[in-house]
Amino acid sequence: MRWIQDRRHVWLHPVLPLVALALVGAIDGLLAWRAWPIVVHGALDESAHLLTALVLLAALLPARLRHLLPWALLGIVAIDVDHLPLYFWGVGAAAGSGRPVTHSLLTIAVLLGGAALLRRLRAPLAGLAVGVALHLVRDLATGPGVPLLWPLSDTAVTAPYAGYLGVLAIGTAAAVVRRRRAALSA
Ligand SMILES: [Zn+2]
Repeated sequence: MRWIQDRRHVWLHPVLPLVALALVGAIDGLLAWRAWPIVVHGALDESAHLLTALVLLAALLPARLRHLLPWALLGIVAIDVDHLPLYFWGVGAAAGSGRPVTHSLLTIAVLLGGAALLRRLRAPLAGLAVGVALHLVRDLATGPGVPLLWPLSDTAVTAPYAGYLGVLAIGTAAAVVRRRRAALSA
């Protein structure tokens, strides 16, 4: 029960990535099973985005950058606000992709550029960039893909869903090993 007492590391506990991995599989099973109302679909998809991020952050985020975590979690969900102009007015999508042009490396570059230039906003902007990057990991393997290289290219870049699950499985294993090491060295 020491992990419960050690609240600073609670999000790194190995059980959480394992549960997250299982939940992502279950959510995607539900999404593939039938067409859901858009609000339900959105809630399920955003939940899977957050679970994906939980696994990958537990595996990869250095302890010294833990202060970026709230901003990263915000960025993971907030990037999908860019779908609203697309839904309401049919604007914002690249010609070759069903997702908005802001679902691209350019958004990450702009956020990182802002973080480099604006010292006081460094943590929020860097955290949001991490969140957007993690968001794109899932979007690459679901739906129509993302216009990753916009404005250089309108083409939707996609990745196989099995690859996404593989990344999550490796992330889960890495998070478990990382937590185990942290527990042993504590
Ligand atoms: Zn998205």
